[in-house]
Amino acid sequence: MSHVLAAVAWPYANGPRHIGHVSGFGVPSDVFARYMRMAGHDVLMVSGTDEHGTPIQVQADAEGLTPRELADRYNRVIVEDLHGLGLSYDLFTRTTTRNHYAVVQELFEGMYRNGYIVPKTTMGAISPSTGRTLPDRYIEGTCPICGYDSARGDQCDNCGNQLDPIDLINPRSKINGETPKFVETEHFFLDLPALADVLRQWLDTRDGWRPNVLRFSKNLLDDLQPRAITRDLEWGVPIPLDGWRERADKRIYVWFDAVIGYLSASVEWARRSGDPEAWRKWWSTDGEGKDSQSYYFMGKDNIVFHSVIWPALLAGYSGEGSHDGEPGQLGRLNLPTEVVSSEFLTMEGRKFSSSRRVVIYVRDFLERYDADALRYFIAVAGPENNDTDFTWAEFLRRNNDELVAGWGNLVNRSISLAAKNFGAVPPVGPDGLTEADEALLAAGRAGFTTVGELIARHRQKQAIGEAMKVAAEANKYLSDQAPWKLKAEADKPRMGTILHVALQVVSDINTLLTPFLPHSAQKVHELLGGTGVHAPMPVVEEVADLDGGPAYPVLTGDYTQGVRWESVPLEIGRPLAVPKPVFRKLDPSIVDEELARLDG
Ligand SMILES: [Zn+2]
Repeated sequence: MSHVLAAVAWPYANGPRHIGHVSGFGVPSDVFARYMRMAGHDVLMVSGTDEHGTPIQVQADAEGLTPRELADRYNRVIVEDLHGLGLSYDLFTRTTTRNHYAVVQELFEGMYRNGYIVPKTTMGAISPSTGRTLPDRYIEGTCPICGYDSARGDQCDNCGNQLDPIDLINPRSKINGETPKFVETEHFFLDLPALADVLRQWLDTRDGWRPNVLRFSKNLLDDLQPRAITRDLEWGVPIPLDGWRERADKRIYVWFDAVIGYLSASVEWARRSGDPEAWRKWWSTDGEGKDSQSYYFMGKDNIVFHSVIWPALLAGYSGEGSHDGEPGQLGRLNLPTEVVSSEFLTMEGRKFSSSRRVVIYVRDFLERYDADALRYFIAVAGPENNDTDFTWAEFLRRNNDELVAGWGNLVNRSISLAAKNFGAVPPVGPDGLTEADEALLAAGRAGFTTVGELIARHRQKQAIGEAMKVAAEANKYLSDQAPWKLKAEADKPRMGTILHVALQVVSDINTLLTPFLPHSAQKVHELLGGTGVHAPMPVVEEVADLDGGPAYPVLTGDYTQGVRWESVPLEIGRPLAVPKPVFRKLDPSIVDEELARLDG
């Protein structure tokens, strides 16, 4: 057993989440965390809403709200979306807590003391017509590195490099098209070149990463420049240095504070658990945290923050770069074990876009379909290694032909037959097991090794494919054995044996599918006569800020109960009821309805 941190990307609190977002960071991290808990690891899964930065400031201005009011609204919406999907966060919090501010400032101060944060006078963009700071994201121009003509001021979406707006060729304001004016302004910079060697050494020891993610990350090290980590902005975490703390016009840049959320959320979780130091088991490089592993889940547009920036902050705070230094009061902190990045999900061949209504919001989806139907689609057809297209026709086919006709049908007919003929889990008859019986039982048991190893290595598509393959074998077994023909009194013991085998394998497959389909796994567990918690679920709780700030909702849960990752022999004679279908077969008309909604 080891301590496993599942660190999940922080959704930005400027709107509801669409299914593209949750297919990249949400569902895959939950499948992993659920499996690791079932396999006996001590998992801490944390995240929260990312609430600072100029987009929230600009949107709040447009709606006549304060940034905090806007963030409050979408924090709540996002918490509810993630809850609806059954994502088992130990703590899903937010970046506007006082605890988060304190942890961010502690990291800033520690890095500053060690010489990895340095002040510098630089050129900042202002709007000539208003005189206000023009945020990076609102400046567009040609990328000086790859020549892409719609690079943003902070990042080029084509080559993935971080940019400074002043380096853009032909810069223009995205708000009104004017050419920004660059003026002198004082800021703090992260000395990335001083951390390049430690990052390279760390990346050289990473085994088993998705090859494209590792390659991309190593390429980012080739041209590391100091990065500004403060901004001319009122909305964000104050700079914790004398002469700066009280300044209303300078704040820590949102990406710096958001990545520290993984740590601050762990600290918040520990403080709420009653053992304020417990977070160290997942973070310290020595003591109880020595064996810990950390996995970071995100979409590919966020790789740079997780494979360069965040490890640089951790190493700088720990005093491990070329300036050396001493760790701060949080101690020496672990660098990520693995950065697990997904590709993008598109929608009927188009890029998701809220403004062009090419979008399906999670809450709209969950109003019309079951959470596990979406979780299934993401697991079997999500953007694990390639950009992938969501189409309603494919969703319908996966749901009806695979989930309902494959797995659902196996559950339904094996439990119905056993309930009708025996009313309970039947025993193996006096003639014992045939070769076919043994082979199917062995396939179910073998799944625990194959499926488990695949999930641990982030091959979720293959993993669920293996589990569904066992379901297909079991369906074939039932058709071959045709227990419904063995109605004569003399045949009844053999019928019992077949159904015993089928139910045992249904129980095993159900366990194998639990990380993917927790809602339906709980139902199948109950149909098999089981009681109690099989797949624990998160809850939304309203909590007080630990340090006196306003209250807010968090997603949390008790995940200590539930089935383990092993084959459990079914209890003979356990009562069965005639089952109701676990999955809903969808009418083909939904495809046209949904497409009309999309274009409407
Ligand atoms: Zn570029």
